[in-house]
Amino acid sequence: MPIKRIGSRGALVSFNDPFYTNVYIIFGDEHVFVLDTFLGNDSMEVVKQLIREEGYAQTPVVVFNSHADYDHYWGNSAFEGATIVGHVFCKERVLNEGKTSLTKYADHQKGNVQLVPPNQTFQETFSFNGEQVKFIHSPGHTRDSSTCIDERDGVLFVGDNVESPIPYLNHANFDEYVRTLKSYLNLDWRYLVTGHDPLLVNSELIERNIRYLLGFREWSFDIESFSAAELHRHVENNLKTLNDELMGSKHRQALIQHLEELRDYSLHSISES
Ligand SMILES: [Zn+2]
Repeated sequence: MPIKRIGSRGALVSFNDPFYTNVYIIFGDEHVFVLDTFLGNDSMEVVKQLIREEGYAQTPVVVFNSHADYDHYWGNSAFEGATIVGHVFCKERVLNEGKTSLTKYADHQKGNVQLVPPNQTFQETFSFNGEQVKFIHSPGHTRDSSTCIDERDGVLFVGDNVESPIPYLNHANFDEYVRTLKSYLNLDWRYLVTGHDPLLVNSELIERNIRYLLGFREWSFDIESFSAAELHRHVENNLKTLNDELMGSKHRQALIQHLEELRDYSLHSISES
């Protein structure tokens, strides 16, 4: 299990199975912050062991859930008695969608999973001032998506709002999502921790993600510049997920046109190969 030391007080734990996922730990002055909890109690053993080894066994744990997609909170129950910070919508989603996702993704479960929602919710921001740790509502990938910044070490933990090669969209909230990503460019950080990419140290991926979202907002995609992976996620995930919402909105005509454009493009590339 790769564990990477970051700054003066951070540790990045990166899991590989069933897909690359990050959990970030901040060893604070009076708290240990665990940012996201992956897939169940067993998966959090390595995190708890590290906390013990660092001499923080008696220090109160504060868990943070970047959002309520199952791969970011199933390990909450490993931290009994912990404060669990999350957006109000995150708590709602755990309560409303938790059981369904537990059934749907049962084969991803790592050890026991009890669905434990955040017990310290917030609307806009929530801070541990003395610790220089701040949580910020940052809707994008999902409505409940939130970000943590370690202001002392300059570490920005963004969950799935930033993702390679392009983000997974769940809503046609392009303006809101772009606003969130642009807000990241105005914050002071050196390290960028995303849900599912290796550690980043610059804003390149954020800028690429913004360009993709602006393409949606303006319905002007440069399809030929898409890599195979981008095209696949765009067509198989994002357009399928958003189809009903877009068809019932002002975007209907633009979507139909875009789908035709994609069909022509794929016919063209098949005939060329
Ligand atoms: Zn995720």
